[in-house]
Amino acid sequence: MHVPLLDLKAQYGAIRDEVLAGINEVLDAQRCIGGPKVEGLEKAVAEVSGCKYAVGVSSGTDAILNALMSLGVGPGDEVITTPFTFFATVGCIARVCAKPIFVDIDPRTYNINPELIAAAITDKTKAIMPVHLFGQMADMDPIMAVAKKHGVAVIEDAAQSITSVYKGRKAGSIGTAGCFSFFPSKNLGGIGDGGMIVTNDAELYERMKVMRNHGQTGTYEHKYIGGNFRLDPIQAVALSVKLPHLDSWSAARRANAEYYNNKFAGTVVETPYISPDCVSIYNQYVIRVPKRDEVLEHLKANDIGCAVYYPVSLHLQECFGYLGYKEGDFPASEKVSGEVLALPVYPELTDEMKDYVAGKVLSFLQ
Ligand SMILES: *Cc1c(COP(=O)(O)O)cnc(C)c1O
Repeated sequence: MHVPLLDLKAQYGAIRDEVLAGINEVLDAQRCIGGPKVEGLEKAVAEVSGCKYAVGVSSGTDAILNALMSLGVGPGDEVITTPFTFFATVGCIARVCAKPIFVDIDPRTYNINPELIAAAITDKTKAIMPVHLFGQMADMDPIMAVAKKHGVAVIEDAAQSITSVYKGRKAGSIGTAGCFSFFPSKNLGGIGDGGMIVTNDAELYERMKVMRNHGQTGTYEHKYIGGNFRLDPIQAVALSVKLPHLDSWSAARRANAEYYNNKFAGTVVETPYISPDCVSIYNQYVIRVPKRDEVLEHLKANDIGCAVYYPVSLHLQECFGYLGYKEGDFPASEKVSGEVLALPVYPELTDEMKDYVAGKVLSFLQ
């Protein structure tokens, strides 16, 4: 049986006509930059995130970059983050010429360990950037407490966790700003690249809006050095059609996760740990297994899509060599990067498919 890691065609069938009608509207009006489709999506995403403001941008990466630039993070500043994340989190910190400072993860949730943050704060710390990995939010209360104590900003990298919940609060609504990605493999995926930044800070909102359009405050008047970080209205159309389905899709992912959890109960397979404070949207269902690479090969040989997020802790990437970190610096991150394996968890999976996937994992290990 073929089970892909993600099957976007299954989802598209049900919304195709609505997406195409909306795209035609944009094309007929030739309103190809900004406009009501983008504004409508911003309003809707702000609302589902429990935030006052949202700024549509060109990608999740540009959301992070814009947030950093708008908060004035730059040369000489330090930003504390996790080494167990997608490259863009740390790439953006380096691109604004600030210094990424890594703090190890909690090996159960894979998110930044809040207990280790205080020791990493210096007088150069400008922001903390927790990442809500795989659909589960980081432990935000202690992160906000340490940030408040030292007067530093918190940028939530919520690229994988739109509408995820921590103690009743939505991803992106707790920190100074929250960044979403609409990369097609995220729970709310566009038909190309896209992203959004949410905030409750009116002043920051205005700056982020200006920053996405070359820092232009009036016609050819540039208060800041911004960039072209605009969200395409065609993307806004597709995302606006998909957004009302997001909660049911995430619920289906949670049900799939539960199904796998039952299958793996009492075996050597370590299933995802979800904190009682959190509701995960399961952007990924990540297990930990012995002989991970062999399990991966076995699943691939059986036509099952699976992947490793992330095989190399970022402090060991060649491009971050200048930071001076070495193997052994972040033992939890290094350990889990050798054990994690993401299985298909997309909403349209059938029981037969899940049985097949779980069966192949277990038949190899037992
Ligand atoms: C996907 C992702 C990003 C980047 O988003 P893009 O839309 O691909 O630019 C940043 N951080 C994390 C944790 C991500 O998963």
